[in-house]
Amino acid sequence: MRAIMRGVTDTEFERLYGTEEQCLAAWVKVRQDAGMSCPRCGNPKSYVYDRRVGCTRCHTRWSITSGTVMADTKLPLTTWFRAMHLMSSTKQCISAVELGRRLGVSYPTAWYLHMRLRHARTEEISGCQLGASSEGGATPIVEADDVYLGGERNEGSGTAGKARVIVAVERHPSGRMGAVAMAVVSGFSNAEAAAFRDAHIAPGALVHTDGTPAFHIFGEGGRTHVATVTGGKRPERERGALFFNVNTLIANLSTALKATFKVFSPKHLPDYLGAFCWTTNHRRNMRGMIGALSGAAAKSSRLTRRTVYA
Ligand SMILES: [Zn+2]
Repeated sequence: MRAIMRGVTDTEFERLYGTEEQCLAAWVKVRQDAGMSCPRCGNPKSYVYDRRVGCTRCHTRWSITSGTVMADTKLPLTTWFRAMHLMSSTKQCISAVELGRRLGVSYPTAWYLHMRLRHARTEEISGCQLGASSEGGATPIVEADDVYLGGERNEGSGTAGKARVIVAVERHPSGRMGAVAMAVVSGFSNAEAAAFRDAHIAPGALVHTDGTPAFHIFGEGGRTHVATVTGGKRPERERGALFFNVNTLIANLSTALKATFKVFSPKHLPDYLGAFCWTTNHRRNMRGMIGALSGAAAKSSRLTRRTVYA
């Protein structure tokens, strides 16, 4: 395994984030980097003392976690950072059950952490656009596909009970996989394809699909769409071949979902996918995962019980 793909080891984690003070310092830094303007007067300048933040103008005070996905937490920051480490240090996702076991917390607590850290990642990549031309570098093409996920085993290989997902991935000229994006859709309609295009495909991008009818919409707005009907042939297994990256990504997703969830509820599928895409998009810097995930949490919006249990 190449060094770049290796994440922080458990020993390193203990050394860097083993104490509440270390985690607080790390959290203060990512929150300050994200910006902490005063909730009352909007003043961007604030000072931090212990776990509180104060506005330099109106002296309103708030908690260092308020306004984020970690708002109102009763858990020590060491538990949060340990959860971030466990949820990002392996290629596979970790289940809430396993997370609880490793953290020594109850299942509901682990479920809550799992859900909140999925939400932070999903929110951060919700505006991720693929296929933009990069300055200096060559522009990646985008491969997109329609996928059916889940469903009951005894429903056979049909589409009944399955979630419909649009999957897109960048392919760099070298064949290397770039950023990925996914969205749960109600069906592969023109309206759903257009919404996916606007959210995740950069204007000017070149998009390849296998000819799913609605995907002609990916060619609008200055984009170019090329349909290549594969006719249900076996997926290309050669690196660099058309659809190799999207097929690899779908295979990785399927493995991750099977490993992590015995059953996955359609209600939570959007943020399972968001977390999976976020982790995939950060995979080239495994050592920076805890920093990136705490940064996503620092920028995230608050989750209310109503949003969670709706
Ligand atoms: Zn203020």
